[in-house]
Amino acid sequence: MVSLNENFLKLKAGYLFPEIGRRVSTFAKENPSAKIIRLGIGDVTEPLPPAIIAAMHAATDEMASRETFRGYGPEQGYDFLREKIAQHDFQSRNAEVSAGEIFVSDGSKCDTGNILDIFGHDNRIAVLDPVYPVYVDTNVMAGHTGSADSEGRYQGLVYLPVTAENNFIPELPDEPVDLIYLCYPNNPTGVVASREVLTKWVNYARENQAIILFDAAYEAFITDPKIPHSIYEIPGARDVAIEFRSFSKNAGFTGTRCAYTVVPKTLQAKTRSGKDVSLHQLWNRRHCTKFNGVSYIIQRGAEAVYSPEGQQQIGELVSFYLENARLIREGLQAAGISVYGGVNAPYVWLKTPGTYTSWEFFDELLAKAHLVGTPGSGFGASGEGYFRLSAFNSRANIEEAVRRFQKLVS
Ligand SMILES: *Cc1c(COP(=O)(O)O)cnc(C)c1O
Repeated sequence: MVSLNENFLKLKAGYLFPEIGRRVSTFAKENPSAKIIRLGIGDVTEPLPPAIIAAMHAATDEMASRETFRGYGPEQGYDFLREKIAQHDFQSRNAEVSAGEIFVSDGSKCDTGNILDIFGHDNRIAVLDPVYPVYVDTNVMAGHTGSADSEGRYQGLVYLPVTAENNFIPELPDEPVDLIYLCYPNNPTGVVASREVLTKWVNYARENQAIILFDAAYEAFITDPKIPHSIYEIPGARDVAIEFRSFSKNAGFTGTRCAYTVVPKTLQAKTRSGKDVSLHQLWNRRHCTKFNGVSYIIQRGAEAVYSPEGQQQIGELVSFYLENARLIREGLQAAGISVYGGVNAPYVWLKTPGTYTSWEFFDELLAKAHLVGTPGSGFGASGEGYFRLSAFNSRANIEEAVRRFQKLVS
């Protein structure tokens, strides 16, 4: 008889985005004339910049002739892309990362989940609360947790609450942990981590032989020159951190799929018998065994992100979304709402007005203003009483959404 991975059965049934989808489609069916504006799921709305499209067209043409056709490429990614990444995203910021430490992939969501393949099952795992649900759910699937309590906290995970009370900056854990997920600029709160905060975590990891899994998917949205873009800008991070980056949010690749993970060659962990093992080697083995590389055409598109035209065009994209975030943030503030984030990130995190729970506010906003956001409680128990709005939309929709929001709460 077949046995199942019954850890999947521990996952909370109403996963956040499907539940939102159900409520929105029910409302839309009952109110067919309502013009619903969606500021819920964090997906980009603007088309790929022309420099990237041109590079992908040219690469497509190369595939059409025997002389320039490409079959399987290197699993880790083509050198033309890995070199540009290392130079532009790290070395130019005095972060020591070489091309050989970069693994190009089809997404950071996959990478943050797949990375668990190279770790044992007895690690103590810390996540922020609220958190990007992928970190939690992949650990549940891997059997690293017990079941969830009524608020959705899984037994066996160490939750580090981030709320207005601690300015959304977590305390260090008061019990030992081995793997720490950090995401900055943060999804869902839109908050960034200063050099001091990141240094505190790197030092913690060094002192406790822990490893930081650093998700920097929103690094391009950092406007404050004092905020680090990479964990490797912090001295000593090469020995304790893996970093995840993606072209999804900075360059509009959510549907095109390209990302990368940095595993420094200096990053090691010990076997039970005390022998040092290179995590770079383990991840390389995993990546080559279970992945066959990102399409050549897409990697040429990603390379074009680093051309002068590409840089200018993605800069305009990011500025466009940041201006949306500013309009949301200032519009809500003017309406007397407490808002957080939205300065160095495309998300605005707000305190629900009055005594609304996150889901009550979701229903109210949908019913009365025809706006869709994301209930904070869907990201974790400490997100209760908060709500996320995304800046990924057209300018006209953002302006209309802010007007409707102001009318609702005034
Ligand atoms: C959008 C997002 C990513 C990017 O995921 P891809 O699979 O590369 O599209 C990674 N981490 C977080 C927190 C995100 O919100």
